[in-house]
Amino acid sequence: MSAPLIRGYEVVIGLETHVQLSTQSKIFSGASTQFGAEPNTQACAVDLALPGTLPVMNKGAVARAIAFGLSVGAHVAPRSIFARKNYFYPDLPKGYQISQYEIPVVQGGTVSFFVGDKEHTVRLVRAHLEEDAGKSLHEDFVGFNGEKSSGIDLNRAGTPLLEIVTEPDMRASKEAAEYAKALHALVVWLGICDGNMQEGSFRCDVNVSVRKPGAPLGTRREIKNLNSFKFLQQATDYEINWQIDEIEDGRKIQQATVLFNPDTGETRAMRTKEDAHDYRYFPDPDLPPLVIAPEWIERVKREMPELPRVMAARFVKDYGLPEYDASMMTQSKGFGAFFEAAAKACGQPKLVSNWLMGEVSRRLNAEEESIEQSPISAELLAAMISRIADGTISNNGAKQVFDALWSGESADATSDAARVDAVIEAKGLKQMSDTGELEKILDDILAANAKSVEEFRAGKEKAFNALVGQAMKATKGKANPATVNDLLKKKLAG
Ligand code: ADP
Ligand code: MG
Repeated sequence: MSAPLIRGYEVVIGLETHVQLSTQSKIFSGASTQFGAEPNTQACAVDLALPGTLPVMNKGAVARAIAFGLSVGAHVAPRSIFARKNYFYPDLPKGYQISQYEIPVVQGGTVSFFVGDKEHTVRLVRAHLEEDAGKSLHEDFVGFNGEKSSGIDLNRAGTPLLEIVTEPDMRASKEAAEYAKALHALVVWLGICDGNMQEGSFRCDVNVSVRKPGAPLGTRREIKNLNSFKFLQQATDYEINWQIDEIEDGRKIQQATVLFNPDTGETRAMRTKEDAHDYRYFPDPDLPPLVIAPEWIERVKREMPELPRVMAARFVKDYGLPEYDASMMTQSKGFGAFFEAAAKACGQPKLVSNWLMGEVSRRLNAEEESIEQSPISAELLAAMISRIADGTISNNGAKQVFDALWSGESADATSDAARVDAVIEAKGLKQMSDTGELEKILDDILAANAKSVEEFRAGKEKAFNALVGQAMKATKGKANPATVNDLLKKKLAG
């Protein structure tokens, strides 16, 4: 695969994504995972690491990891091991994080997505279960003495995470952003994560290096904790150029962990990167191996929704959609359902997909809403598309109908079809379907524009367009341009 070079360098990117699993309680304790509670009201003795407490595995977290593994075609390990990752930080009272190291629960798998209309597939190395740490509060935190202080909130300690690690398969910041979007869409679709990025339910660490084409992998720097696709791409772009500048200036890249500052658009080194051996990983003696019987995997499989790629393949097969369209129509469960309902209602799947990718997405994006909040239902869109398909309105006319429907016009009509017709009527958008009437208008135009007719006969194509223009003007745009073209050609030939 030929990768686009940036300033003569090839970019190499691998992602580590922390997906917060949507369980009610924590991964090793019964405390609530609800977001937004008063600090330290949702940290029990286990989360606080009080002596004598023991972790107990949350089955719901394991079931979610299994569902993820199945959805990406990975190997779900029948036996995996929890390990202690040792480091000191105030938000980690145990002094170690329970994670998985040598044998993770999910191994391998792939995630596919489109960049433009080109499909990419990224290989996963693994996905492992682990607990989140607490949070240090630095900004706007006032301590007991009434002065600005740092505080620790352990509500998040013990929240279940699935860390999903890719191979360094991506070659551009846009690819990394599209991978992250696809992964986000998948975990939300599966119902294993609420996907709320502002609340930190989905956070990406982006590993970036650059190299001359054909050279061995360069040294990477890891941008930590990106929780928006836009920042992810911005931070990666900045980092790529920073690394190339360093190399061009004769310096070597040091492996490091960096933070992105959205205000300046820059990345800044936080610490030099520690290696695995610094963490003194060892199997956690408090937790037995995680054993997953085949029956459990079967049960999770039975309860899983139809997967996006399975639904996309069905849309290609049953509705004749191009693969690109099918992938767009399955960007979320809601989108898939909307597409299918509308396609069934009007029998025009390609028109439905065009409208969903075009006008509908444009309006939803502008208003930052999801398809579930669309003021135009699948059935109403289908009713409008039926009127394009039967020639009542042109595509341009339909845009006006769409805008009117979107802003709620004629909402009191008795049916979707009646509502569409009422808008067409009120706006006078009905195309001229009576060819008799149209022919008469064309005859008049030809008679009045003898010069253009002559020019056309002398081989001037432009003259024809002028005649079409006259016809559209005379009919106030209500004639079907294709019909006007046909009729004019016939008349001029005759
Ligand atoms: P660690 O365990 O120290 O974080 P890994 O080898 O597991 O390191 O890699 C972490 C992430 O970094 C993976 O997503 C991997 O694809 C990516 N990665 C590894 N080497 C490079 C590199 N040279 N350039 C860019 N990304 C890399
Ligand atoms: Mg890492």
